[in-house]
This record gives sequence, C-alpha cells and structure tokens, in this order.
Amino acid sequence: MRKPPVQKRAVQKRAGQDKAGRKAKAAPVQASGACVCGAVRIEIDVPARWAWHDHSQRSRHAQGAAYATYVGSYRSRFRVLEGAEHLTRYEDAEAGTTRSFCARCGTPMLYERAGSHTMVNLPRAVFSERTGREARYHMNLAEQADWTWAGEKLVPLKGYPGVLWEPPRKKQPARIVDAMFEP
Ligand SMILES: [Zn+2]
Repeated sequence: MRKPPVQKRAVQKRAGQDKAGRKAKAAPVQASGACVCGAVRIEIDVPARWAWHDHSQRSRHAQGAAYATYVGSYRSRFRVLEGAEHLTRYEDAEAGTTRSFCARCGTPMLYERAGSHTMVNLPRAVFSERTGREARYHMNLAEQADWTWAGEKLVPLKGYPGVLWEPPRKKQPARIVDAMFEP
C-alpha cells in the first residue's frame, strides 16, 4: 500500500507544532528578581546554569553575610529589566571581580568574574521565583568563617521567646578505664 505524500500532511500546521510538524519548543520561562527598594529589576531564563554557596572571604564581606549563595546565568540569558541607572559597579582589580549594587538601597545584584566573561552571577536571595537550580555546591570552603552556623543543634533561650541558641558543648569527663572495676 502506498503511503500518503508527506508534503501534504506537513502543510497542515497544528497548534504547538512548527512547519515540519515537530513539537514546537516551549517558550523559555523566566525568573525575576529585584533589589530591596525595587528600583533595579533583573531577569534570567530558567533554568540557570548552576547555583552554589560561596564561602570566600571577599564574598562574605561584600554580601555582609556568613556566605553568599549565587545563581550563575549565561550573560545571554540575563537582562536588567529596570533601573540599570541605579546600578553602581565596584571593580576589585586585585580579585579580578566586579560587583554591582543598587545605589539607592545597597542590595548586591551582580557579581562578575574576569575569568568567565560569558557568565554573570546573581545573589539567589534577590529572586522571588525558583531559578531551576538547587544550590548544591560549596566553593572556597577553606575560607569559611568559623562563626558560620552549620546546622549545630539549637535550643530555645530561656526568657527570650523566639530566640534559639547553641549551648556551649559540655566537656566529656575523662573516663578512666580500669579493668578491675569494669562489670
Ligand atoms: Zn534598590
């Protein structure tokens, strides 16, 4: 039996298909973010390339936090939607990095590294939506601050509702092993 000519079927373009009848690619989904005052708004195409926790001394200092969690995006998939004029750039020549922040409210917005021109790094915390990547990687752990809370057990602080604290670890009394008194 002869098959019907392919050309005729291909002309019938259905919704969600391109001319060749293939399933059309879904439109990219975006995740948007903003600084605290809302003057600067950014957007990336989702999924981001990756996300990680940066424990370097420089990022800790610049972000004013124990460590910084960044979302890495290809520059081509990143846009400043609004307020580019409010972004102030600080170039750290020694580190080879440029950090941009909102001049009105001080929120860190962009972190660029000289070594990776195609990428731009954005604080995960400025995004209101999911970025398509979980922060599963840790960088520069050797520079981690010794005061970083790493999930140690916390208990309620007596007399201060809502405050938890990490009690100092009790020293274990030295156990003297004497075979004569062991059961
Ligand atoms: Zn702002």
